[in-house]
Amino acid sequence: MTGAMRSAPTDLLEVHAKLLPVRLLLEKICFRSLLCTYTLPENHLLRKLAQKAFQKQDVKKYPPPLRLLPRLFSPSSPSKIETITPRTQPHTYIPSFTRDIAVNKDQAAKQERLNKRHINIYTDGSGIDNSAGAAAVLINKDDPSKSQVLRYYIGPLTQHNTYEAEGVGVILGLELLRKSRAARQEDTNMIGLDGKSVIEATFNLKHRPGQYILNEILRVTDALSTGTTPPLVLTWISGHVGLHGNELADEEAKRAAQGETGGSCPLPSFLRGKTLPASVSALKQHFHTTLLHQWGEDFAQSPRLRRFTVIDGKGVRSQFLDVTAKLARRQTSVLVQLRTGHIPLNAHLHRITKSDTPNCPHCETQGHHLKETVQHFIQECPAYQKERYQLKKELGRDGDSLKAIFRSTDNIKALLRYIGQTERLATTFGDVSHYDMDDDTV
Ligand SMILES: [Zn+2]
Repeated sequence: MTGAMRSAPTDLLEVHAKLLPVRLLLEKICFRSLLCTYTLPENHLLRKLAQKAFQKQDVKKYPPPLRLLPRLFSPSSPSKIETITPRTQPHTYIPSFTRDIAVNKDQAAKQERLNKRHINIYTDGSGIDNSAGAAAVLINKDDPSKSQVLRYYIGPLTQHNTYEAEGVGVILGLELLRKSRAARQEDTNMIGLDGKSVIEATFNLKHRPGQYILNEILRVTDALSTGTTPPLVLTWISGHVGLHGNELADEEAKRAAQGETGGSCPLPSFLRGKTLPASVSALKQHFHTTLLHQWGEDFAQSPRLRRFTVIDGKGVRSQFLDVTAKLARRQTSVLVQLRTGHIPLNAHLHRITKSDTPNCPHCETQGHHLKETVQHFIQECPAYQKERYQLKKELGRDGDSLKAIFRSTDNIKALLRYIGQTERLATTFGDVSHYDMDDDTV
């Protein structure tokens, strides 16, 4: 997969391939399986067993996997995690509102300037200071003193995410719309938000995390459409371009995330006096972050750490995959081998008894006994002075450090040209100097 030599150490290969070490990967799979049982509908047989396993964790000496999982991880009780129910709407179902998603930010800003409505509602969800909150503001253009606001504190970002917050914002907006008499005088009503994904999800119903929030939006809009309320349009408002309504909703959502709940009227019954269940997406995301942290700590104990830090200071958060995304396989292969030090240069070949000497063949003929390491090959060997002059010209000051050379795609292209020109590794990798070469295998 990485094109490394067989002797390359596993921990370095995991970093290059961005693959969690198998122990952590197993933890991730087990945690996801546990969450999977917790999100099942309450009448599902497995959910009942999972609930029982959570409540009686110390019963058996040799517990089956379902009993063991809650012992290994300690997420909230199943009842505090969202239930993901199968889709209840028929496939012919169409929401009772329309959507208006501009093709780009400029068009969204233009539409907003042309908006002649007297009553406008803007909603937003925010994640700030590790907490999520949502808000809606109703702006009365004729009489700004009659403008209204509703805020709702959702909870910590370890259990919730901004997607949920955007959805809750719409529920708050619908409550303001429902209570507003002035809004009924309009030809159409608008709720503007900068979260495109929520608007799109209401038209693409699946059973997925956060679906219960979308179901509530659909339930309320369906109920409103049977009354005297004008047709509703959910409009995508371009965020962070200085539009007054959107900025105001953003400010209020930040206040909500800092713990403020309430506003000009009572909260809708869906939110009143309730704490929303934890989002399964947020729990998975948080667990993944914990695993990355654990991986970083484990890698810090690796005997290879000191040598690898010279090549890449980011450790397990290495950007290697990103900066080499468009390279051919043998180009990535030569880079991985250079970065792991396990490459057919004499210093390594001697270590694995494939070469009689660890020394550089060019320097040896001049009477110098210098080990042919990666650093010697790239930065020191006088035999490649001409090629190195060209490399340094392209890299500038980055040429002085191996870490900087491997940091960006442009630097890596220059390095590949250098490797190609020296022809030192040509027998193994061929010519790797051309950036747009066809993909092939070593
Ligand atoms: Zn040399």
